[in-house]
Amino acid sequence: MSTPWLLTLPAELLADISSRFCPHCVGDSGLYLDLGSSERYDQLASQQRDLASLSRTSREIHAVATPFLYHLFATHQSTLYLHMRLQRTLYERPDLAAHVRRAAFVGYTNPAETDSVVNHLVARLKVPPPEGWIVPKKVMIVTKTGNRVESVREPLRHQFLVEMALNLTAGLEHLSMNLSLHASEDYGKNMLPSSTLPALRTLHLAHSYPAGFSLEVVSRLLQKAPNLRLLTLDGCSSVRYGSSPGPDLSNLSALRLVRPCFRENAHLAGLFASCSKLQGLAFHHWRGESYIYLPRRTPRELIQALLPCNQTLRYLEIQWAEDDDIYQDELVRSLKPFSSLETLVIDAACIYSNRTRDVEESEPPSSLADLLPTSIRYLLLWRVNLRMHQDLADFAQKARRGAFPNLKEVWISWVPADASLSQMMIWALEEDLQLAGISIRSLPYSKVEFFLDSEALLREDFSLHIPERSLQSTSP
Ligand SMILES: [Zn+2]
Repeated sequence: MSTPWLLTLPAELLADISSRFCPHCVGDSGLYLDLGSSERYDQLASQQRDLASLSRTSREIHAVATPFLYHLFATHQSTLYLHMRLQRTLYERPDLAAHVRRAAFVGYTNPAETDSVVNHLVARLKVPPPEGWIVPKKVMIVTKTGNRVESVREPLRHQFLVEMALNLTAGLEHLSMNLSLHASEDYGKNMLPSSTLPALRTLHLAHSYPAGFSLEVVSRLLQKAPNLRLLTLDGCSSVRYGSSPGPDLSNLSALRLVRPCFRENAHLAGLFASCSKLQGLAFHHWRGESYIYLPRRTPRELIQALLPCNQTLRYLEIQWAEDDDIYQDELVRSLKPFSSLETLVIDAACIYSNRTRDVEESEPPSSLADLLPTSIRYLLLWRVNLRMHQDLADFAQKARRGAFPNLKEVWISWVPADASLSQMMIWALEEDLQLAGISIRSLPYSKVEFFLDSEALLREDFSLHIPERSLQSTSP
């Protein structure tokens, strides 16, 4: 097929066009969380096929578009054979392997089918196959409903294949792995001693089953990634096994904890203590089916655990499970020790509660003005209801008198039931806040994956970024 007009374009423009077909270049953050779904994988594969078609239109375009074809190395359970073909190409063409920027791996169903390809690769890499390679061992896995079943899925083989891929991709910047089927393996032990991941900036680890995973399983991998900046842990249950020290996370600038299922609060505190330069934290509390096996967590405990980071933390985002009722003595009362905090996104349920215990010497109601440090610049209150009105009015008056000299923007997201009155509430607060030079806006309530923007934080930007689609969604 001839496309003469395309050929007249300068190479930079052709590169720009190619990048628009590349899921890596368009900064597709959805790539992390839902790669496990086959619809999502099919969508990605279709984008890559479009790019491949484009690259075949001419020799000139091929030269420009090819690097973009290798930016993303994503696999799905059913795509092991493709994975192996791609891996063999990467081995034979280190120039192409150098283009890989983002990789996403989920568990394979039956790696034994491709033994001959793997064995060939192993021979070329001069890496001895791990013990147990010849006779695959069956493993017990815990299903989503909590049943234990025997599986032919082979964690060892999957892990080995992933590590062989990592040996080939030294330019990798973003890595995500689903550890559900192989959460007890020790990642990194099969990598070549000389292999490192110096460009790796973000690592996303997810686990789909109630048991969760220990961060200890990636200790060796973390040692090979000295420039890691953002770590996302979805379903992490502990930081270490037994008495071994947890991994060193002193290079991290941001941490995102989704569905954390730590059995002891000490593990959470230990995790924060090991992040000595932490500037951003997003914490998304969860009450899943397995929550009944875990001790209950409170917002107050979270803030106590986070105190070792009070000098460095600039961004804090807390979303709390909607079905968790928080007592007054479990609320966050003060963030004043966090003297560098610029951006706070907080679920209002972590500050305000109507629930008191009979035995409790009831604490005075929480106050937003008492909560905030003077360093605060951006504030987003999530799931606000009209009962909080009096305290918000008090906060606005204090702001007017200069209590928050750095505050620039306030965003309020109302619970759906109270959304119809929200504009009147905003008008009531607006006068005081505007006199202090603070803007206030209302945000439609909808589920938001993260406000902590990964692209922004890699630029050291910890201000508040409202996702475009949240602004567009309409209030119910
Ligand atoms: Zn790209």
